[in-house]
Amino acid sequence: MILNTHVHGDHTGGNPFFGETGSIIAQDNVRTRLLNQPQFPAAGLPKLTYKQQLQLHINGDSIRVVHLPQGHTNGDSVVLFQSANVVHVGDHFFNGAFPYIDINNGGSVSGFINNLRSLLSTLPQDVLTIPRHGPMGDLEDLQRAVETIEVTRSIIRSGIAGQLNDDQIAEQLTDYSRWGQGFIGIARWISIIRADQQAFPSSS
Ligand SMILES: [Zn+2]
Repeated sequence: MILNTHVHGDHTGGNPFFGETGSIIAQDNVRTRLLNQPQFPAAGLPKLTYKQQLQLHINGDSIRVVHLPQGHTNGDSVVLFQSANVVHVGDHFFNGAFPYIDINNGGSVSGFINNLRSLLSTLPQDVLTIPRHGPMGDLEDLQRAVETIEVTRSIIRSGIAGQLNDDQIAEQLTDYSRWGQGFIGIARWISIIRADQQAFPSSS
């Protein structure tokens, strides 16, 4: 069984190979988006899709797969290994780095934050958290990631409201420069927040 946590190529690129012999599982919107890529091989399409949540019973564990709406994309899954007490957060968690939020594929910054806030409210204190980018983490790492997104979004939004340019906004984010050392640098993070605000002008 292969589970695609969302549609991006670095998560679905192996589907045409694995789909020949295995079952590919994904949230409904992943299949829809792959169908919209005419060159994507049919063998790589998810065979089992779900809308809100799915329960798997394998390896002696009970694995809950839950849809995170309109966050990183509109088809993300979070995977909770309930006996092992481990959660795979997919691309909703870049441990120690700014995340990519794909507005063109149905994502939004507010949705991303809301998804993580509601996930955090349900997780046990001693859970281990697997990011899709960065080292394995714990609950505090995930909390720190969402807090950093919230704080830096608010700094960037104040800068936009004050008509600052990107360089001026970046100067206000020097405390967070190490968060820009992943593949989303400070300039890209500012551009994501700008694009999000243009797409969703009234979001809080
Ligand atoms: Zn992704």
